Amino acid sequence: MRKLVALVLMILFLVSCSPSAEKVSADWTERQNELRESINRIELLKGELPGAWSGDLLPEDGLEKLMAKDSRIQQNHQQRADLIKEASKIADKLTALDREKLSEDQNRLTDQLVEYLRLESLGLDQERAFFNGLVSDEPDEVLGDLFQAVIANRQLQRDVIAGVVAVSTPLPNEPTEEEAEPTETPEVELTPPPVAETPTEPAPPVAAGYRLNQATQLFEPLSESDPMAVLLTFDDVPMTEGAKESIAIAKTLKEQNIPAIFFVFGNYLHEAIGQETIIELHEMGFALGNHAQTHQDLSAMSEEMVRQELQFVNDEIEALVGERPKFFRPPFGMTNDTVNRIAREEGMLPMNWTYGYDWEEEYKDDSAALAQIMVETPYLTPGANLLMHDRAVTAGAIGQIVEGLQAKGYHFIDPAEIDLTGQDIIQSQSGAADHE
Ligand SMILES: [Zn+2]
Repeated sequence: MRKLVALVLMILFLVSCSPSAEKVSADWTERQNELRESINRIELLKGELPGAWSGDLLPEDGLEKLMAKDSRIQQNHQQRADLIKEASKIADKLTALDREKLSEDQNRLTDQLVEYLRLESLGLDQERAFFNGLVSDEPDEVLGDLFQAVIANRQLQRDVIAGVVAVSTPLPNEPTEEEAEPTETPEVELTPPPVAETPTEPAPPVAAGYRLNQATQLFEPLSESDPMAVLLTFDDVPMTEGAKESIAIAKTLKEQNIPAIFFVFGNYLHEAIGQETIIELHEMGFALGNHAQTHQDLSAMSEEMVRQELQFVNDEIEALVGERPKFFRPPFGMTNDTVNRIAREEGMLPMNWTYGYDWEEEYKDDSAALAQIMVETPYLTPGANLLMHDRAVTAGAIGQIVEGLQAKGYHFIDPAEIDLTGQDIIQSQSGAADHE
């Protein structure tokens, strides 16, 4: 009898020590957010690869440049390897949580995320083998392996991200077995909530409706602004042969008074077609952003060079339209604290983007496919920052993209509504390549 009492007491003691379902769920959400951020960074780095390949793999350089430790491809590979290592530690903590206290969705996502990391890591190994294979005698075999891993991995990423987005939308009051009180069902938040802090005091004297979260690159509504909004941006304006595409895009948008930012780079700014494009875009009322002069990786440049790159574009634009750009987007999304600081000093808000597809092999010549993915991608979330380019495929798709986004309940952020004062929560971030 005494033994039984001791046993009961012991059980009661253990039960009282074990974390509550709410606590486990909160831990899960936190780990999950961390993981998601790592995954976003990995994805951005992967987006940069096509640009890195075309930059590093020039026939005249042979393989030496590609294999050099400081080549963009090798650095990208290393950065992803580091991120996966870091993410795996977080995933270990996630799987160590009491799975029985998690919901079905949470458990499913946990498994998917672990699988994502496993495949991502496998993909990296195969990429490494591929590099080594390039300098070996049988490159064909390693190439096949690499492609298989890439395809498997891509599909899985889409599933995982779709799952993450599905669970991140606030759940209806859906009691789980563990929780008797439906009102205490923890809301699963994988993306930062649309309104980070509800400002109780009036906002600073800025007519700003949205603030860019530098960590997620999502726009968060300030005060009463509608969270169901996205920003449209177009990079590499003007391309000599494509300048007319920017104008075509702008005309389509203008018909419905839809705002956007056109990020200008320096390549053709001294040519008539480039200058005419800039003036016309400005006269149509679109915001012009700075996309640097020579479209190189600014994070690898000296401070002085970065400043020159940014000032050149700002000076040229000011000479053409009488105003300096207020937004800056680093080429290939490659940035660091110095680049961000200089952009700020030059009076601009630095921004990357959250998704885009018009440079990917699958979409770069197919307007219908591009329009579909831009609207159906799991990356479409409130506050998303959409990246497109001065390209024929985009000009062909933009009407449908706008229609699709509107049908999903989104409206478009006016650049004039963006808070430029910033909290200066600038984080070092390397982003995806926006093609060549
Ligand atoms: Zn670009």
